[in-house]
Amino acid sequence: MEDYIVRATAADNQVRAFAATTKQVVETARQHHNTSPVATAALGRLLSAGAMMGSMMKNDTDMLTLQIRGNGPIEGITVTADSFANVKGYVGNPDVMLPPKNGKLDVGGAVGVGLLQIIKDMGLKEPYSGQTILVSSEIAEDLTYYFANSEQIPSSVGLGVLMEKDNTVRCAGGFIIQMMPFAQEKTVGRLEENLRRVSSVTSLLDQGYTPERMLEVLFEGLGLEITDTIPTRFFCNCSKERVEQAVVSIGKKEIEEMIRDGEDIEVKCHFCNTAYHYTVEELKKILKRSR
Ligand SMILES: [Zn+2]
Repeated sequence: MEDYIVRATAADNQVRAFAATTKQVVETARQHHNTSPVATAALGRLLSAGAMMGSMMKNDTDMLTLQIRGNGPIEGITVTADSFANVKGYVGNPDVMLPPKNGKLDVGGAVGVGLLQIIKDMGLKEPYSGQTILVSSEIAEDLTYYFANSEQIPSSVGLGVLMEKDNTVRCAGGFIIQMMPFAQEKTVGRLEENLRRVSSVTSLLDQGYTPERMLEVLFEGLGLEITDTIPTRFFCNCSKERVEQAVVSIGKKEIEEMIRDGEDIEVKCHFCNTAYHYTVEELKKILKRSR
């Protein structure tokens, strides 16, 4: 099954909702970065949220960045997405290993205490930027808190990544539910009741629930209307030329040193780990453009 996002409304537009299956997105990320199980779960949750939040943006050129900076051993997580739900991301330390907590991968322990920052670049002079503290460091709750406190949108976020015994991704996905300002108490009450009946996203995913089925359960009795379905994928737009910009920014002195060393260098893209090679001749050309 290919990954996709379902967009929906319910209760006569009092609520909007997104649900996604992101197994391929997360498995691709795992393969690129060779992440440990807990790192895969943490990165996978943020990638799943990023894909759905990317699809909320209106313009083709809009870019979204989700950044988690915590004091835990994963050393931060960065995800970016565009409005077509192309998503990519990385963690600071892909090798992080922690004992399970309550029988689950300890994402909160890996992330630690810190901040969540969301940056939306919509082509304006200043990008929109909102920042909140991490309330549980389990990512879904942190995003719920972010939506309520930074964007003033009461929301419910559920994210899940389940691993196979061989540490590949078994299933991944999630949902984001947002209340419109005119949502009635009755609607909110029913939704809360439905949410209480769902034990976790991972349990739904593990039972083979599609995004559509997930929303049907969450919006039982609330008149769910699925508006559209869009594909999502892990996609990095890096190229040798783009990564060269990172080499330029290293600084003149360092590049001169590399040239003196007389050896080719390898630079990896942060987002997808693809390695690019630059010969001494190429470095000399890059040097001319650096300051
Ligand atoms: Zn890349």
